Amino acid sequence: MSAVWIDEQTATPESEITTEPKIGLEIHKLEKRLCRQVGQAVMDFNMIEDGDRVMVCLSGGKDSYGLLDILLKLQARAPIGFELIAVNLDQKQPGFPDHVLPDYLKKLGIAFHIETQDTYSIVKKVIAEGKTMCSLCSRLRRGILYRVADELNISKIALGHHRDDMLQTFFLNMFFGGKLKGMPPKLVSDDGGHIVIRPLANVAEKDLARWAVHRQFPIIPCSLCGSQQNLQRQQIGNMLREWEKKYPGRIESMFTALHNVVPSHLMDASRHNFKDLQTTGLPDTDGDRVFDDEEFTPPSLPAMQAIGI
Ligand code: SF4
Repeated sequence: MSAVWIDEQTATPESEITTEPKIGLEIHKLEKRLCRQVGQAVMDFNMIEDGDRVMVCLSGGKDSYGLLDILLKLQARAPIGFELIAVNLDQKQPGFPDHVLPDYLKKLGIAFHIETQDTYSIVKKVIAEGKTMCSLCSRLRRGILYRVADELNISKIALGHHRDDMLQTFFLNMFFGGKLKGMPPKLVSDDGGHIVIRPLANVAEKDLARWAVHRQFPIIPCSLCGSQQNLQRQQIGNMLREWEKKYPGRIESMFTALHNVVPSHLMDASRHNFKDLQTTGLPDTDGDRVFDDEEFTPPSLPAMQAIGI
């Protein structure tokens, strides 16, 4: 796939930035960064291919608006042809402003589909008062979106999860599930029938928040259903933000670590054949020096500079 995916020229040219100069320049850089990071993820994981029909799941939150916005920019200059179809599931939560997304999408002039299914009533009936409804709600949502994807002849389903969601999931699985397992950038859905992609995999949540303000997306609050968001996820999110405040660069380093897994230095015997290890008799400069070094790979120079070492 060509590097045109990460050509930054689709960002507003600097000469055309007419707002207050410093803010304009910041936004220009932000736009370039978002396009570059999404383009990179698309290339690295071969997320979008020629002829794909990509269903962009829109919830009305800042992340999914940002996803659609950046994918539209990339579509305009991609080296391949693909379609984007925005899909929203109206779950009939009380107070859901069902005109907001259609109005926005009509103005954009892009293909879209609004699926209306009253999952809210089902969840309310099944889940006892005061208990969190999210698990059943998202299971129902998932099933409906898979069906809609089939009906619309979709080849890829794009979700708006970003870098921070992925790290939070990694820690949730480690702290509460006893697994080193994150949120993949690309996967086959649990029903086996769909490819799900997360083109915002490299993007920081704070960048999406700033982009949403700049683009004045008509955000629909996600608390309409009155359910508590996953408390553990919130706690992990707070922990990560605290770490980043105290140790700038830590999030970046942890995110890089998700790309650099060394199974021979973990303890999963199904990933590395510890049992049959044999001496080779040959020195290996990359091999382990068991007795004189800590079992720790020092960070690279840029990483050390980032955390002020
Ligand atoms: S917050 Fe509400 S809409 Fe979102 S998953 Fe939970 S129950 Fe469903």
